Amino acid sequence: MPELPEVETIREDFQGRFLGRKIAGVSIGNESRLRSPFPENLKIRLTGTEFTGTLRHGKYLLAGTERGGYLVFHFGMTGRLDELFPSDPAPRFCRVTIRFQDGGGLSFSDMRRLGSLAWTDGVGEFLRLKDLGPDAMDPELDPDRFEKIFEHRRALLKPSLMNQTLIAGIGNLYADEILFQNGIHPRVGIPDLPAGIFEALHGSMRDVLALSIRLHADFSRFPDRYLLFDRRAGRGCPHCPGKLEGSRIQGRTAVFCPGHQG
Ligand SMILES: [Zn+2]
Repeated sequence: MPELPEVETIREDFQGRFLGRKIAGVSIGNESRLRSPFPENLKIRLTGTEFTGTLRHGKYLLAGTERGGYLVFHFGMTGRLDELFPSDPAPRFCRVTIRFQDGGGLSFSDMRRLGSLAWTDGVGEFLRLKDLGPDAMDPELDPDRFEKIFEHRRALLKPSLMNQTLIAGIGNLYADEILFQNGIHPRVGIPDLPAGIFEALHGSMRDVLALSIRLHADFSRFPDRYLLFDRRAGRGCPHCPGKLEGSRIQGRTAVFCPGHQG
């Protein structure tokens, strides 16, 4: 599932490929196959304009248009963007194809149909509507502010890190990594965390997200001290003599090391 670094990688790619190209038309696949209501008047909003910039908040990509307003992508489990060249057919599972006047195009496809498209007139309005917390890479989200978000909560730490209304961008994989780096078991509650841990958690969060952005979320290029390098249960732990284990916790597969994640 695309989390913050994956979406940032898609954003950089979008920025390089699709800005400044006049939109000739929009064709929509089967609307019923998108989970959320399809944005109204999408063809009218997009035809004749062009994308002028992008921004990302958490797992959302917002593509701004010359006329104002933003097309918002959420990639669910399997959503992806592909560039189409003039003779390319729309890919399988294509939900929307945007054709440019130069003959090329952009397709949003989503095999599992959990992604969504939305339209918003303003970024602030969108963040309020979705009730999103600060982006996990927001420079203003310093260790103090990070701690204040979590300190009085009673919930488990892992689902709290994944709660997009608290902090936007972290999903199952990066939450597991942050716990792994700090020796915290995925069933540990926030009230049971050691004192002073939030600065280290914040540091690990920034470290792993920045590394992954730099490596375009290619986990095979991570150093092997990261869980993400190889999350398979049974792998020897790089931090202790233990072996990794997988377990279903609150409906998600947690991978952790019982040796050092007490
Ligand atoms: Zn270990």
